[in-house]
Amino acid sequence: MLLQIENLMKSYDGADGPVPVLRGVDLQLDAGETLALTGESGSGKSTLLHLVGGLDSADSGHIRLDGRDITGLDDQGRADLRRREVGVIFQQFNLIPSLDVAANIAFQARLAGVNDPTRVSDLAGALGLAEHLHKYPEALSGGQQQRAAIARTLMARPRLVLADEPTGNLDEATASEVLDQMLGLVAQTGAALMVVTHSASVAARMGRVVHLSQGQLA
Ligand code: ADP
Ligand code: MG
Repeated sequence: MLLQIENLMKSYDGADGPVPVLRGVDLQLDAGETLALTGESGSGKSTLLHLVGGLDSADSGHIRLDGRDITGLDDQGRADLRRREVGVIFQQFNLIPSLDVAANIAFQARLAGVNDPTRVSDLAGALGLAEHLHKYPEALSGGQQQRAAIARTLMARPRLVLADEPTGNLDEATASEVLDQMLGLVAQTGAALMVVTHSASVAARMGRVVHLSQGQLA
């Protein structure tokens, strides 16, 4: 078992007190598994992804990665987790505008102390970015920017890849192509993949689909 989520709770502060978003989420994911996380807008999908990715902390419950409880990590521990073990891909790509594509791809792995130019070129090649390595993000199409973001995430060989509406900003044909490439590369690394999506066609490509509703998974 790679990921084990147990009775996870998270509330946000509202005007009239805490507003519960996750009310006891349970989920298990094996290494190499692919999972779609669906649910209405505002149901807490991004919140759940952020907790697993160490971008925010839960109120209670447990998240275990390879049996290690990551729920109580401090900021430094969560930063290490994001650099080495869990990779997050966002709908908005989040590339660094002042770095070219090669430097963007290398960025996260560098923070983890990995300098591997060969892997940068290999990933860029696999994602059709070989001709674009010295361009800046603003000169790329949306699909190319997301491919660069995928490469950046996979550089550090995370065991778990989390993607929040990764193709939500792309047209249908580009989305399908980017999804194919992401699934292929994730499968190569043996990582598990959890994808938040509104799209039935994206969900259908994953090995399993879970639905978040009323703060719980079904
Ligand atoms: P989804 O990704 O499924 O659309 P989110 O996880 O983004 O849902 O949000 C779930 C609920 O929590 C929403 O009602 C949203 O307004 C609220 N929420 C999310 N982030 C915050 C925050 N940082 N502070 C306060 N409320 C938040
Ligand atoms: Mg969201």
